Amino acid sequence: MIARKAYTIDLDRDDAQAIAFGTSPLDAARNCDQWEGDPEDADPIRAPEFDQWADQGCVPMRAMLDAGWWHSCSGCERQLCAEYDDDGDPSEYVDDGDETYCSRDCMLDHYAEIGKRHGCSFGVRLDASERWPGITVTDSSGLRLNALRIQVGGVRFTFPGGRFPVDWIRGDNTVLVATVDVGAWRQFDSPQSDGAMTGEKVTLHATT
Ligand SMILES: [Zn+2]
Repeated sequence: MIARKAYTIDLDRDDAQAIAFGTSPLDAARNCDQWEGDPEDADPIRAPEFDQWADQGCVPMRAMLDAGWWHSCSGCERQLCAEYDDDGDPSEYVDDGDETYCSRDCMLDHYAEIGKRHGCSFGVRLDASERWPGITVTDSSGLRLNALRIQVGGVRFTFPGGRFPVDWIRGDNTVLVATVDVGAWRQFDSPQSDGAMTGEKVTLHATT
C-alpha cells in the first residue's frame, strides 16, 4: 500500500487553503471535502510538515496554527493565529472536533444559537460541554426517545484519558462508558462534578 501524504490545496475563495491527504496529488484533491470543483482542476502542493497526520486524516488545529495557518472562529469569525494579539489569546482557542473557536465561551454561545435554530442537536452539545469541560464532542443527534418517551438529544464525546467515546442522552443520570475506561472516567468526572453523576451511576458497556 502506498502511504498517504499531505498536500495543501488553494480553494479559490477568500484566500482559503485546505490540507488534504492522498497517495498522489489527484488522490488528495479527490479526498478534499472543501474542494468544490473538479479534482483534476485542483493544484495540490506537497506539505511534508503535515505528513505525520496522514493516518488520522486531519491536522490538529494547534499544529496548523504553529505552522503559520489561520483559522476563522466558527462563532464570531475573528481570525485565530498562533501569535497573541488584540483579537484573542491562543491558549483559549478550542477545537471541538469539527469547528475551531476563539474561546470556550464563544463555542458555547455558538452552540446555544444553533440550538435555538435547529432544535436540540446542538443544545445537547452545549449541555454536555458545560457539564464536562474538556470533552470533545464527536457526534450528536437531534431527537431520541428516552425511557420516559420524552424527546431528548444524544451526544457522543471523548474525554481526556479515555480510550473510547462516551454516550450520553440529555437528562440521563448515567453515561455509557467502555469498561476499560471506567477508571479514567471516574477520575475525569469526579473533580468538577456537582455530584449528580457519581461513579456508581455510571452504566458500563464493553467495547472490544
Ligand atoms: Zn469566537
